Amino acid sequence: MSEFETKEMIEGISRWVHCESPTADPAAVNRMIDLVAQEFADVPVHVERLPGGDGLGDCLIVSAGPENGEPHGLVLSHIDTVHPIGTLANDNPVRIEGDKLFGPGVMDMKGGAYMGMSAFRSLAREAKLGRRVVYMFTPDEEVGSVGTRGLIEARAEGAAYVLVTEPARPGGRVVTARRGSGRFDVHLRGIPAHSGSGQDVGRSAIREAAHQILAIEALNDEARGVSATVGLVKGGTAANTIPEHAWFKVDFRMREAEDAARLDAFVRNLEPRCPDVKIRVEGRITRPPYRKSEAIAELHARIQETSRAYGLPLEELPLALGGSDANFTAARGIPTMDGLGIEGFGGHTLEEHALITSILPRTNLLRDLMAQL
Ligand SMILES: [Zn+2]
Repeated sequence: MSEFETKEMIEGISRWVHCESPTADPAAVNRMIDLVAQEFADVPVHVERLPGGDGLGDCLIVSAGPENGEPHGLVLSHIDTVHPIGTLANDNPVRIEGDKLFGPGVMDMKGGAYMGMSAFRSLAREAKLGRRVVYMFTPDEEVGSVGTRGLIEARAEGAAYVLVTEPARPGGRVVTARRGSGRFDVHLRGIPAHSGSGQDVGRSAIREAAHQILAIEALNDEARGVSATVGLVKGGTAANTIPEHAWFKVDFRMREAEDAARLDAFVRNLEPRCPDVKIRVEGRITRPPYRKSEAIAELHARIQETSRAYGLPLEELPLALGGSDANFTAARGIPTMDGLGIEGFGGHTLEEHALITSILPRTNLLRDLMAQL
C-alpha cells in the first residue's frame, strides 16, 4: 500500500510548476526555493539555505536520518527551468490531457523533484531513512551548475550513493552514463589595415579564426563519442578593413575522461598560423564524463531488485548525450544513478509534459531506495 495519492501528487507538482523559475531570474528561483522550504515546515529535518551568487538563486540543503558515522546518501534535484516567465500563461499552461500533465518544467524536473521531496519527507517524518540523507535542491543546473558545482562535489564526498531525479528516459529507463562537455571562448587579435592599401601590413584575425575553426572541428570523432562544434563567430568592423578582432565559441562533448583532457589541452594550446595574430582562450571542461563504473553497475542492479516490485524494469540508457549534475559526482567515483525522476516527453520545449501513471510507482521506488540503500 502506498501512502502517496495520485491526486495529491498532481496538485503538489502543479503548485511547483505554477511557480515559474528560469535560471537567470534569481528572484523567481528563490520563490521556488521558498516553496520547497515550506514543504519541510513541520518536518524534523535540518535545513540550510545558501545564498546564490552571481545572479543565481539560493541552494536549499535538507538533511535527515541517523548520524551514526556511516556514509551518507545524497539526492540531487534542480528546481530551475529553461522556460522564461510567461511560458505558463502563454504557451504551455498546466493542464491534464489523458495521462499527460502539461506545464513548463513539469518533466525537467519539477515532477521528479517533487516526487523525490515527497519520498524523503515521508521517511524523515517516520524516522525511516536508511542512513543520513542529504537532499540538495539546486538553482542553476540548466546553465551548467556554475554556482553549485563545488557545493555538489563537496556534499558528495564520501557518500554511499547519489540519486538524481532528472527525467526518466523513454520506457522508464535510468541513466548510467552521460557525455561530458566543455565550453571555450577563443579571442583572436590581428593587425588592422586598409583592405586596399594595407595588405602588406594587415594581419587578419578572421582568416586566422577560419584556420583554427577547421582544426577544432577536425576533432570530431563519432566512434569515440567526441563532438567539437563552433557555433558562434564574430569579427571585423567593415568590409574594407582587414579585421583586428575575431572571436568564436567552442562546444565540446566527450565520452571518455582522457578525451576531456585532450580537448582541453588542444584548445588551450592553439598555435596561430600567422605568428603576428595573438590567440587568447578562456573556458573549461564544464562537466566531466560520467562513465558506468563497477560500483554504478552494482547500484543499478540493487535498484532494479527494488523496482521490480513496482513493475518497473528500470533498464538503462547506456549513454545519455547531454549532461547533468550526475556527471560531477560520478566523475569523482561516487556510485551515481540518474534518470530516477518522472517519465514524460518534450523537455525544454513548449510541448513538455509528464506521464501521470509514472508518478506513484516511481515515488514509491524513490522512497524505498532512500529507506534501504
Ligand atoms: Zn534537468
